[in-house]
Amino acid sequence: MTVGQDRDVVRPATERSNGALNVGSCKTPKVINPAHQFANDGSDTEFWRSIVLFGLNVASYKFALAKSLLELASQGEEKVPLSELAVPFSRNICEHLVEVDRQGTFRSSKFLDACRYYNAGRINETELITATEILGFKNVIDAFHVVGGGEVPTRFFLDERRLSLGGIRLTDEVLQLAQSPEVGSLTAEAEARWRLVEEAWSKEAAGEQVVVLYDAPREILVPALTGKRKTLTGVRPALNGYQKGHCFYCYGSITVVNSDVDHFLPHSLMARGMPVDLDGVWNLVLACQDCNRGSNGKFASIPHARYLKRLSRRNEFLIGSHHPLRETLILATGANESQRNVFLKECFTTASTIDGRKVKWKTNEVTALKF
Ligand SMILES: [Zn+2]
Repeated sequence: MTVGQDRDVVRPATERSNGALNVGSCKTPKVINPAHQFANDGSDTEFWRSIVLFGLNVASYKFALAKSLLELASQGEEKVPLSELAVPFSRNICEHLVEVDRQGTFRSSKFLDACRYYNAGRINETELITATEILGFKNVIDAFHVVGGGEVPTRFFLDERRLSLGGIRLTDEVLQLAQSPEVGSLTAEAEARWRLVEEAWSKEAAGEQVVVLYDAPREILVPALTGKRKTLTGVRPALNGYQKGHCFYCYGSITVVNSDVDHFLPHSLMARGMPVDLDGVWNLVLACQDCNRGSNGKFASIPHARYLKRLSRRNEFLIGSHHPLRETLILATGANESQRNVFLKECFTTASTIDGRKVKWKTNEVTALKF
């Protein structure tokens, strides 16, 4: 099997003196794709998110490794032999296999079979850990930092499988991420993307296209065209990473727990004749509670036109993630970026006419961040 064949290129990597990888003396980096644009502020958090949120994954191992790294780093672990890494790694895979049997685009995997045997009670935990050590890490450790043809400049672990450690050494960068207020969001974002991608694999195997709907009362994403209301993931962890953990409007810090789901164009316009489904993911953003419902909150106002470009960029990040929100957004808003921008402008104009108010809502930005 092949793992981590992501199509995107973050940027070409060159060697840094301390052994980590950096962009070095690259001149103005060429903008290649959404993953590159996304990571252009160069923080470790954004490079982490580009690994987890972008790319055309062929197996779920990268998500399992990402969650395992955060878990081990949260415990302050630095030296992690494969036998220790195998514990959270296999646990994550086994838990997902219970829900969705398809964990990649390949036909068979001895490692996944071992996890299935464990879930069925046919092998014990010791046997599962041994199988994971031998079979589970063949490609994912090499591929973890790769997004397309290049590695991200930050390394979150060093590969010491062939040294006395016999495993990986966590770097200060991932240890710091695990101590940051964002660790809960980063874990939830990896889980959300995993749930969305495995749904896409299942649908593809059945020859169907995955389309995602928003279930507003429960704040979750559900697959369209299914009889039962299956939960895919919460909408907040699915969106938070693509806004870099910041409020859509003021750029204040938010988390998947401490944020509101806001309809960019107010949901109430649909009852007044708005001819477009405003519950579409394209129209959902995360906002801080002040912006959404504070004393100068947005509530059911139409936001200022200057936010349209930001919404377009956020939506292009979602589309750049390949699976499976890409299909959902393309179906709703258009096949290419210029069509999608026309769609957004038309929706904005129609919404403004229905609303009737000339003054649009806006707020001050609290950081210089851009997304
Ligand atoms: Zn805000």
